[in-house]
Amino acid sequence: MVTVTVEAILDRALEGHELSWEDGVVLLKARSSKAIDHIRRTADALRQQQSGDVVTYVINRNINFTNICEQHCSFCAFRRDEGDEGAYWLDMGQMLEKATDAVQRGATELCMQGGLNPKATLNGSSLSYYVRIVKTLKDTFSQLHLHAFSPQEVQFIAREDGLSYADVIATLRDAGVDSLPGTAAEVLDDEVRRVLCPEKIDTATWLDIVSIAHQQGLHTTSTMLSGHIETPEQQMRHLDLLRSLQRSSLEKGYPGITEFILLPFVGQEAPKPLRRRVGRDQPVLVDALKLMAVARIFLGRWIPNHQPSWVKLGLAGATEALTWGCNDLGGTLMEEHITTMAGAQGGTCMEVETLMDAIASVDRPYRQRDTLYGVVGG
Ligand code: SF4
Repeated sequence: MVTVTVEAILDRALEGHELSWEDGVVLLKARSSKAIDHIRRTADALRQQQSGDVVTYVINRNINFTNICEQHCSFCAFRRDEGDEGAYWLDMGQMLEKATDAVQRGATELCMQGGLNPKATLNGSSLSYYVRIVKTLKDTFSQLHLHAFSPQEVQFIAREDGLSYADVIATLRDAGVDSLPGTAAEVLDDEVRRVLCPEKIDTATWLDIVSIAHQQGLHTTSTMLSGHIETPEQQMRHLDLLRSLQRSSLEKGYPGITEFILLPFVGQEAPKPLRRRVGRDQPVLVDALKLMAVARIFLGRWIPNHQPSWVKLGLAGATEALTWGCNDLGGTLMEEHITTMAGAQGGTCMEVETLMDAIASVDRPYRQRDTLYGVVGG
């Protein structure tokens, strides 16, 4: 009976109908290997229709400029208080050094995010500090796409300086920010957020800031932190909110969400209460793959690019996801702290050749892309 329902839903998806979030819940709750394989094949067929066979990757570098953070998210092994062992705050010279290295290694993008450090100010203004980072990097490396500052960081700056979100985003954009990471989304459900990240912005604020970024002419990405305490219903409502936001932005002619990235929870070094509650340290691969497939089926007409996280799943798991609806293998990163400090085993840096070999191993062609999925190097 359940299999029949799954089949009917998948047939409708292949005919081009939009699924409801309740349909998605049925797919996520399917347990038989036959049903799960059908979901995988449907996601793969829709990936082929919506994004083609080419698998893309980006040469980028992460710069997590500080891990000093005023918040205490229950999954976070990255944050430190000032003065703690391992606390750091990069100065401008160190950031420029990392950017220089990125350029020498062929990067087209710098991805910049950091902890929420109330002391990170310039002349008493948080925004001035962030603008100085952006301008210094952009003045030196105008060719680099600056993919920087999560909706949570935008809210932090706005709160510190008493500004509107629109003013913060417009100022960062004018200084040189090219797009915003759609991180800090975790699960867009306030019940989950109260446990996971009680001090973070709520669901409505995340959606508001991403929508304002689109209005201000900036693309964003989108993410979900999966595989902890959330239910299939909450996962689907998250995807439904992303789909509605994307529809609204695109219908108004704004830039929208370029990609969906699934970030399965890694808890090895996470604070104990959440770790105990989840009961395991590494993601369950089959759950992550099924969720990626359902995300493709549910979102693909609106958000055509889907990326697994090799940091979270390992390269083998991320490569496997290319046959579950994904069409992008993400970036080289060059250094990754946030998930690695949580105990992820995927590594912190990926060579381009390694990404190419992984893509070739599933018989798909590859292509380097820029942050907005444009072609690099003709
Ligand atoms: S996830 Fe981000 S906001 Fe939350 S504690 Fe860690 S660094 Fe701070």
